[in-house]
Amino acid sequence: MSLSSKFFFSVTYLNCCLGLSSLFAQVNQDGPYIQRKEQNIEVVQVTNNQAIIKTLKESDPIEVSFYHKPELNFKFKLHPIQVQPTEFKVPDKIFALSDIEGEFEDFRNLLINNKIIDKDYNWTFGNGHMVICGDLFDRGEDVLPSIWLLYKLEEEAKKQGGYLHVILGNHDIMNMSGDLRYLSPKYIASAKLIGTDYLSQLSEKTELGAWLRSKNAIEKIGDRLFLHAGISPALAKKGKSLDEINSTCRKAYGKSRESLSEEENFLIGSMGPFWYRGYFMQPQTEETAIDDILKTFNAKQILVGHTILESNIGFYYNKKVVGLDVNHHRGVLSGMFIKDNKCIVFDKDGTSKELN
Ligand code: ZN
Repeated sequence: MSLSSKFFFSVTYLNCCLGLSSLFAQVNQDGPYIQRKEQNIEVVQVTNNQAIIKTLKESDPIEVSFYHKPELNFKFKLHPIQVQPTEFKVPDKIFALSDIEGEFEDFRNLLINNKIIDKDYNWTFGNGHMVICGDLFDRGEDVLPSIWLLYKLEEEAKKQGGYLHVILGNHDIMNMSGDLRYLSPKYIASAKLIGTDYLSQLSEKTELGAWLRSKNAIEKIGDRLFLHAGISPALAKKGKSLDEINSTCRKAYGKSRESLSEEENFLIGSMGPFWYRGYFMQPQTEETAIDDILKTFNAKQILVGHTILESNIGFYYNKKVVGLDVNHHRGVLSGMFIKDNKCIVFDKDGTSKELN
C-alpha cells in the first residue's frame, strides 16, 4: 500500500470508528449552525440531544447557549465576511495565542482576566490587535461557541480601531476537508440529530464555512509573522510572496488531499505553514535558515502555535521565534501581550510574567 493510500485508509477507518462512537455520544449543546437563505437565516442549535431549527431575520441576534451553564450564554449578529488582508501596520498592542481547540471556558476566562473583553463578552481591548494562531477545531467540546465569540469580537474590534486576526491551523484544515481523526464524537452525533452530515455544516454555503474560508495561513503585522506551525526553509525557497501563499492555501481549503494540485499539496503537507515542526523537533531548523526565512519575508520574528513544549510560551532562536502553544486540555491557557519590544505572558487567571 502506498503512503498516500495508507493515509486515506487510516482516515476512512478512523472516521468510521468515529461514526460508531457517535451513536452513544450525548450532545448537551452544539451550534448554532447558520445558513443565509435569501432575506432570512436558518439557525440550528442542538440542546439536550434535540435539534431546534429557527428562521430569523439577518439582523436578528443569534444566541449561543450552554445547556448546563446558561451563565455563559451570549448573543451575536451576522456581519459581512471579507477575505482577510495579509499585511498590517504595527499596532499599539498585540495579544496573541493559539490552539483554542474548543476549550471555551478557559478561553473566555483568559480574555476577561486580561481585559480583552468584559464579562458580557464586549471587546475592551480598544485599538489592540488580537491574533489567534490557528487550531480552533478538535479535541474540546465547545468549538462552535469559541468560533462565534471570535466572529462577534472581530466586528467589535474593528469598530474601535482594533483588529482580530484568526489564522488557520492544521486541525481547521483537516475538519474542512473531512479528516476527522481528532474530532469529538459529539459533533457527528449532533449532525445526525440535525439531519445532515458534519462536513456539510462546514461547506462554503454555511456562515461558518464561508468565514473559515476568508482566513489566512500567514499574516504579517509590522515586522512579525504570525502563523500556526512554521515557515519551513523549503517553503521560503519557493520564492512565493505571503499573499501568494495565502491565496494558494485558500484554494485548498475544503478539498480532499487527492484532489489537490502539487503546489496546494506542498502547502497543506508537513513542510507547509499548517504542519511544519522543525523549529522545535528533529530534524531541527538551523538558526541560519531562520535568518534566511526572516530575510525572505523582511521580518524580525516568527510567532507560532502547534507544538507544545515545556518552556512554551517562550523565545527560541535568540528571540527570532516565539512558541505560543500551551496544553489547554490540561487546564493551561496563556496568551502573549506585545507592546513595542516587550513581550509579557498572561495566564487565564490574569497573572503575568515578562519574557526575556
Ligand atoms: Zn496544530
